[in-house]
Amino acid sequence: MIGAQGPASITCSRAGCTETAEWNVNWRNPRIHPADRVKVWLACGEHVGYLRDYLASRDFPVVVTPLGESVARVPDGVTS
Ligand SMILES: [Zn+2]
Repeated sequence: MIGAQGPASITCSRAGCTETAEWNVNWRNPRIHPADRVKVWLACGEHVGYLRDYLASRDFPVVVTPLGESVARVPDGVTS
């Protein structure tokens, strides 16, 4: 469970990356997820752009927020 083990355990979601995450990458697959479903990846400063672009290139709505700052939903058409 995220948050239960302290900040030291929060690492980037990029495969192979062991950097401490600094960002939440909030996203949703509109084909299978309802509008109020939010998936969250964690990203370090180096990979936040990579992960955002990975999702955006698949036409998934994605919103990047500072680590720990969640969003209630990811609106359609948001790729910033
Ligand atoms: Zn990373």
